[in-house]
Amino acid sequence: MNAFVTRFAPSPTGLLHLGHAYSALTTYDAACAVGGKLILRIEDIDRTRCKAEFERAIFEDLTWLGITWEMPVRRQSDHFAHYTEALQKLRDAGVVYRCFKTRKDVADEIARAPHLTPEGPEGPQYVGDRLAAHKERSLLAEGAPFAWRLKTSRAVHLAEKIGGPLTFTEEGAGPKAEHGTIRATPELFGDPVIARKGLGTSYHLASVYDDALQGVTHIIRGEDLFPATHLHRLLQAVLNLPAPIYRHHRLMTDEMGKRFAKRDRAVTIKALRESGETSADIRKRVDLL
Ligand code: GLU
Repeated sequence: MNAFVTRFAPSPTGLLHLGHAYSALTTYDAACAVGGKLILRIEDIDRTRCKAEFERAIFEDLTWLGITWEMPVRRQSDHFAHYTEALQKLRDAGVVYRCFKTRKDVADEIARAPHLTPEGPEGPQYVGDRLAAHKERSLLAEGAPFAWRLKTSRAVHLAEKIGGPLTFTEEGAGPKAEHGTIRATPELFGDPVIARKGLGTSYHLASVYDDALQGVTHIIRGEDLFPATHLHRLLQAVLNLPAPIYRHHRLMTDEMGKRFAKRDRAVTIKALRESGETSADIRKRVDLL
């Protein structure tokens, strides 16, 4: 058996709930089943939404669930310099551009021609391009804020020139039962923001970079992140990173069929623990006995 490395990568923006328990236990069980490793990664690049108390609760909840993981734990906010390096590689490859438009500018532009901008997984598929050099220079001189967007068409062209058609392997299932070898269609995202104003990175870039750095061979996560895989595969190809295998899993829902969210206090692991449930009860609740 080749090395098997998977990861659970929560963002400490709230308490973990039953959906997280299902995801974390699934990654842990998969690693245990083959004598592989589980990595825990704290995805806290958005410092305004992440809190130390939620990070502490992640360790506490997972330990209580009986999960163990590799040490040390990587906390993304400690590694912004790495993501800047990854962004520089994208800049060197000529596949990103500075976008000076505010959210409102973009929304207004789309409202003027909605038929040109279908919906993607993260909102309208906005496609732009870099400004003329003199305009960009004067905006930079004024200190105008900007975000980095991926020029998706150029990135796909480059990736396919090097490696042929972009595909990924799905061993689980996407929301429409997608399985097997899947053609990546990152165009679905338009030109996504790859490094946000003031943040220097995005979830997509940081996550793809870390998965490669940490030698993750199998990405096991909820099917809500299946669409993002199309973009992640493109970033891996352009950054010359290995392609992991994907296993997207179903999402846990309540009796009404509604997905659990961080605001559903009643089903947080902490609340269930405090109400006297055991970790075996949680396994039973998420059908992982
Ligand atoms: N940090 C992401 C979240 O909490 C998960 C990222 C991933 O598994 O790729 O939703």
